[in-house]
Amino acid sequence: MAKRNILKMGDPLLRKVCKPVDTFDVKLWRLIDDMTDTLHAVGGLGLAAPQVGMLKRVCIVEYDDQHFELVNPVLVHSSGKCVDNEGCLSVPGFRGLVERPESIDVEYFDRFGKKHHQHAEGYFARVFLHEMDHLDGILFADKMIKKIIDDD
Ligand code: ZN
Repeated sequence: MAKRNILKMGDPLLRKVCKPVDTFDVKLWRLIDDMTDTLHAVGGLGLAAPQVGMLKRVCIVEYDDQHFELVNPVLVHSSGKCVDNEGCLSVPGFRGLVERPESIDVEYFDRFGKKHHQHAEGYFARVFLHEMDHLDGILFADKMIKKIIDDD
């Protein structure tokens, strides 16, 4: 396992639509393990494969002591609206207020190709949606309704 370099806004790879995973092999596992190492090294709630330069529909979410590995995630239902602030490891220097659904249902596959369903609400849902946006080349900065400059 190894820490990988995180691409920053301005890198064209962050703007690509990622390809679905069709082979659940050791290469995929290595990518997920490296992404996990990278996230743990820098700290954060999630990381998407394009942020380490891999244009695959893979992201990880760590929320409330839970670790999720999402392969080919699909939003199957969403409802409500809420505004909260978010940031991104690929967008250093500022955060922003973003409107997102309050409640979501996501279907995804794990690293072994087994299908899962996850319901999420509030900030938990926000983290899923933020990471899934990365897979379509979308950054929170594209959607923010107010920019918040970090003090530090
Ligand atoms: Zn991000």
